[in-house]
Amino acid sequence: MDCPGCNVEMAELEGEETTLRRCGECGGLWLDVADLNRLLLHNNLPGLESLGGRVDAEALTGQCPECQVDLVRVDGGDRQHPLHYDTCESCGGIFLESEFKDATDAKVAQQEIVDFFQRFSSRKRKSAAGR
Ligand SMILES: [Zn+2]
Ligand SMILES: [Zn+2]
Repeated sequence: MDCPGCNVEMAELEGEETTLRRCGECGGLWLDVADLNRLLLHNNLPGLESLGGRVDAEALTGQCPECQVDLVRVDGGDRQHPLHYDTCESCGGIFLESEFKDATDAKVAQQEIVDFFQRFSSRKRKSAAGR
């Protein structure tokens, strides 16, 4: 499977419960929405649907490497730390761009994904920001 951003073949990172694909070029990660939701729930986060975020219909995204349809950009995070991910409405694939340069094995990658989505939904936890 090719990276939606760079069109180079992504490497597989085998986890215990999830299979991630990582682009060695940009550090982006591709994973299945079912795997992502399992990962989030295991880490006491709500599923992706409940994390919020706004669809940015104007954003230029890559194409889903499986379905060849344009990905949809979803923005989240807060004003100081805006974050986004891309998703395929057809297969539910999730592409996380350029945030994961250190994620060379599945364990590290999974932890970074959990951290990412914690920050992604952080607007709901404003009172904790000063700590
Ligand atoms: Zn890439
Ligand atoms: Zn797709």
